Amino acid sequence: MQAERPDVLVVGAGVIGLSIAHRLLRAGRSVCVVDRAHPGAGASHGNCGTITPSHAPPLAAPGVIRKALGWTFRPDAPLYIPLRWDPDLWRWLWKFAGRSNQRDWWQAARAKADLLNASRQRLQHWIEREAVACGFESSGLLYAYRDAAAFDAHCAAHAPLAQLGIRFEVLDAATMHRREPLLRDAVAGGIHFPDDACLRPDRLVAELVRLIEADQGTIRGSAEVVRIDRRGKRVQLADGQWLGAGKIVLATGAWSPRFAADLGVPIPLQPGKGYSLTFERPASAPAMPMVLRERAVCVTTWADGFRLGSTMEFSGYNDSPNPVRLDALARGAQEYLDLPVDRARGEAWHGWRPMTWDDLPLIGPLPDAPDIVLATGHGMLGVSMSAATADLVVDRLCGRDAEFDAAPYRVERFA
Ligand SMILES: Cc1cc2nc3c(=O)[nH]c(=O)nc-3n(C[C@H](O)[C@H](O)[C@H](O)COP(=O)(O)OP(=O)(O)OC[C@H]3O[C@@H](n4cnc5c(N)ncnc54)[C@H](O)[C@@H]3O)c2cc1C
Repeated sequence: MQAERPDVLVVGAGVIGLSIAHRLLRAGRSVCVVDRAHPGAGASHGNCGTITPSHAPPLAAPGVIRKALGWTFRPDAPLYIPLRWDPDLWRWLWKFAGRSNQRDWWQAARAKADLLNASRQRLQHWIEREAVACGFESSGLLYAYRDAAAFDAHCAAHAPLAQLGIRFEVLDAATMHRREPLLRDAVAGGIHFPDDACLRPDRLVAELVRLIEADQGTIRGSAEVVRIDRRGKRVQLADGQWLGAGKIVLATGAWSPRFAADLGVPIPLQPGKGYSLTFERPASAPAMPMVLRERAVCVTTWADGFRLGSTMEFSGYNDSPNPVRLDALARGAQEYLDLPVDRARGEAWHGWRPMTWDDLPLIGPLPDAPDIVLATGHGMLGVSMSAATADLVVDRLCGRDAEFDAAPYRVERFA
């Protein structure tokens, strides 16, 4: 049963907003979720579904700028920034470049690892406890390298991860081929992360919806929020209607910056467009999720299919699919794997990751309006970070002490 004015209004029905809504209902709060389209309309639908503490190292690594500049004019490169006049993007890139040093890299890696490690455990416990049918597997994850120099460099760069509680083992080419017989001979070596996992993200979204509805939460689709009145704790929908609540959570992913003026805080996100291609499962498929490192293609296998995904494109909210980038996924996979990848048979999808320039999410209340909470900016790792993010937000909204330090993700760090 839904109260007229719910305890909490959640804006955005992606994996972050839905995870928060579900946990709030379990904490005894009445909850309404609104989405401008429908649950899973954003990045949470067709992503790769890997749960990856292994990805704690931020994108802004020493040397990444040199590499990115070399890719600027290659539309099939893993990171693509088509040249255009966009002051917000250039400001974002400037800040991002400023973080590409050893000290900031390590600081962000530590903060990401805390959230990722906590989330990995919580996600599994929750999925088992609630019998969430989303194909979750404690699968581990394999990085594969074709280039021996890149392999050596990455092995050295990954050494400090052990200090962050991220276990890994370095594998030579022969061991890689034993572990994954579909790998082609050209593979030079790899890194295995035993604690990573995977799930089917669209099913996770569907299960969250099921649980929310079973707990009498309300989910309203086709309800676009156009304005937030932070003092009045209400939002205005595109049809002019106002919805009020005791507290408001903003979980609108890559679309969050449009509310910066209403909320009175900078929300320096850029939409990082990514693609995926999903295929029916062939007779033999990779045994565990893999990242084909030089091409930055992620391969995830489920009982009924496999997906190639990734690529990062900073082209704003441009909604047209880019066939060059979809081809790059298929071509990249075939360089590493003896796998039938007929691009025409794959189901193509694209979505926008909410990317902050320090690679950390924004989780927490507004400095001057504690009943308005942000939960956005999860970048490439929103599924992986969803459970711990939800716990941080729900602890905050219910006045409970958080189990770990939320300071690195606070909203006012960009002010
Ligand atoms: C190709 C690709 C692969 C990825 N692979 C992985 C992976 O393997 N593992 C991982 O952890 N992460 C992965 N990610 C990242 C992950 O998908 C995102 O971090 C995550 O989905 C973000 O969730 P969210 O709920 O914040 O945003 P979204 O899922 O984008 O949800 C935001 C919601 O807000 C709604 N909305 C927006 N504006 C409004 C408004 N004004 N009013 C009402 N509703 C609004 C949208 O309709 C949308 O439903 C990948 C992303 C991509 C693109």
